[in-house]
Amino acid sequence: MAETSTTETSKRKVALVTGASRGIGRAIAIELSRVNYDVMINYATNEAAADETAAAVVAASSVPEIHVEKCRANIADPAARHELVAQTRARFGRLDLLVNNAGVAPAQRVDLLDATVESFDRVLETNLKGPYFLTQEVARWMIEQQTSGAIDSYSPAIVNITSVSAYAASPERGDYCVSKAGLSMMTKLYAARLAREGIRVYEIRPGVIATDMTAGVQEKYDRLIDADLTPIKRWGTPEDVGRAVAAIATDLLPFSTGEVINVDGGFHLRRL
Ligand code: NAP
Repeated sequence: MAETSTTETSKRKVALVTGASRGIGRAIAIELSRVNYDVMINYATNEAAADETAAAVVAASSVPEIHVEKCRANIADPAARHELVAQTRARFGRLDLLVNNAGVAPAQRVDLLDATVESFDRVLETNLKGPYFLTQEVARWMIEQQTSGAIDSYSPAIVNITSVSAYAASPERGDYCVSKAGLSMMTKLYAARLAREGIRVYEIRPGVIATDMTAGVQEKYDRLIDADLTPIKRWGTPEDVGRAVAAIATDLLPFSTGEVINVDGGFHLRRL
């Protein structure tokens, strides 16, 4: 984890993006920097990748004073989650946007009848329990900021990156599907609770996106996309997801909360 140091409150909006060292999280961090956010990059272990994200975030920003930090923290670990929030507070002094992006696929795709408790616990701890309680801690801080009135035009939001697996059943990775369905419900719960606090909560539901997570099943999805899996016939990119987050971050959806934004090339459409 990064060292603690006190800082003046950021003049620009601040985003905390979990799992921002690679893939979708990196693209989200870059797109947020393009719309003038300072960014806290969270990652699990891959510091070199987090450094690359930080450099890309600085390069994408149009303001020379862009403030970027990185913080190693396993979001499945309660103490590390708490430290992540403490570091964000110490280094930026404010938080406008939490993006719960960090997530893992099961180490192996295994038939539901052979699935293990160990895999279930690992996937659920990271993909659901971590964001559930990170959001709780962040929401308390956002309410504190809202109540203090110290930040002009404070308009906080929370974004959860789920998946089409929240509703599409894949019996060879049931734990992942259950974790994303839970994260989807978590979005509704926090949206319902936090609206009165002036905090909007959104779910972004990506389809098949080209990242390290899908690299091992590239041929399978190449075939499926070729065979008309999605109306928009291509792989999704991390930037596709990053741009959707940027739309929320720039307050383009002010009267929506608990909303699901599909970034899936139309995968969710039922077709005849
Ligand atoms: P990825 O390429 O595998 O990157 C995962 C990121 O999460 C990395 O930055 C990793 O950090 C971080 N991470 C993993 N476990 C963590 C933990 N316990 N604590 C903190 N950070 C952790 O994955 P991705 O494809 O970009 O996926 C990002 C999110 O989108 C996930 O929630 C995933 O379920 C979701 N999603 C992906 C797809 C897809 O097709 N790729 C589709 C739908 C939804 P390190 O670099 O340190 O390992």
